[in-house]
Amino acid sequence: MKAKIAILPGDGVGPEIVAEAVKVLEAVARRFGHDFEMTEHPVGGAAYDRCGDCLPETTLAACKAADAVLLGAVGGPKWDTLAPEKRPERRALLTLRSELGLFANLRPAKVWDPLKTASPLKDEIVARGIDLLIVRELTGGAYFGKKGRGEGGKSAYDMIPYAEHEILRVARMAFEAARCRHGRAVAPRPPKVTSVDKANVLETSRLWRETVTALHAAEYADVALEHLYVDNAAMQLVRDPARFDVILTENMFGDILSDEASQITGSIGMLPSASLGTSGAGLYEPIHGSAPDITGKGIANPIATILSAAMLLRHALGLSGEADAIEQAVADVLAQGLRTPDIASPDGPPTVTTSEIGDAIEAALTGK
Ligand code: NAD
Repeated sequence: MKAKIAILPGDGVGPEIVAEAVKVLEAVARRFGHDFEMTEHPVGGAAYDRCGDCLPETTLAACKAADAVLLGAVGGPKWDTLAPEKRPERRALLTLRSELGLFANLRPAKVWDPLKTASPLKDEIVARGIDLLIVRELTGGAYFGKKGRGEGGKSAYDMIPYAEHEILRVARMAFEAARCRHGRAVAPRPPKVTSVDKANVLETSRLWRETVTALHAAEYADVALEHLYVDNAAMQLVRDPARFDVILTENMFGDILSDEASQITGSIGMLPSASLGTSGAGLYEPIHGSAPDITGKGIANPIATILSAAMLLRHALGLSGEADAIEQAVADVLAQGLRTPDIASPDGPPTVTTSEIGDAIEAALTGK
């Protein structure tokens, strides 16, 4: 297969971790006979320093022309004093999301067998397995609704608007993702979507529940569907995370639940994400930021970015076998005991560097 992948290393540890993901994508191309045209473009503070804009026109155009975008991270103390609209997080990330029409954020949260002790949950809960995917609506709800102040600033409101078509498109993505996970080695259970809302209180949640239920009946009867109120879902995530496969939810609930889910895995350096639209390039990136405190030390964990590259292959290019191969290579390297400092246990063997763990994953992938 021929594919164009826009590579946006960004700031802080971004270039260090993206280099490892590129290495792995090159290895996939060699092993499976693909032609990935990977071109690097400036973004974030690095782009601001070069041309006074955190998202240069040329970078945006390259992202629009690509089949997928792989991003490291943006931001850092150096650019914290820029005007809000010029700052890397707002100018680069929010503009990319809106220009690429990305309305769904997919965040898998999984505890890898060799890293079970990193989870803050009790052993018996972790032993039941944690391997779930949160599908969060990204462009609607309270964050984008009408907001304002009254009574001379002494009262405030935020509207939570949702239209049926916005719910349908993200719900469809969740059902498709559940089908896609079904049968994969990492999720050997029947597909299930848990739709999370607050339908006992909110009208938008009632529309959400009606719409998801109708879509399920019409098109996805092979996928199990349950509805949970968001307060119960937050509780079940720490009480019994094994019950979840795919969690579908609106913007603000998803923002909160996806951070909770990432914490139960115990390691921010392991968690990938994808932001998707109906068509065009999706954006694939680790969930963490630019980690200024460890930049340049060669100790950042590149696995979240490497797993983001696996998501890119699966969702943007339909290369599920290749994505599975990357995930298997990561599992093999963890089983061998290789650890960057963030996932090491204090009494474990010496840790490895960013590029050493990247090399090991490349070797596991290519069998060298
Ligand atoms: P952060 O995620 O960068 O770091 C939080 C902690 O996790 C730090 O101790 C860091 O060393 C550690 N960490 C993060 N990634 C790691 C990795 N791959 N390996 C090992 N350890 C890792 O969050 P922060 O410090 O709050 O933010 C730093 C900058 O990143 C800020 O400017 C923030 O705005 C930006 N940010 C960007 C994104 C993005 O680009 N999508 C997301 C979040 C934060």
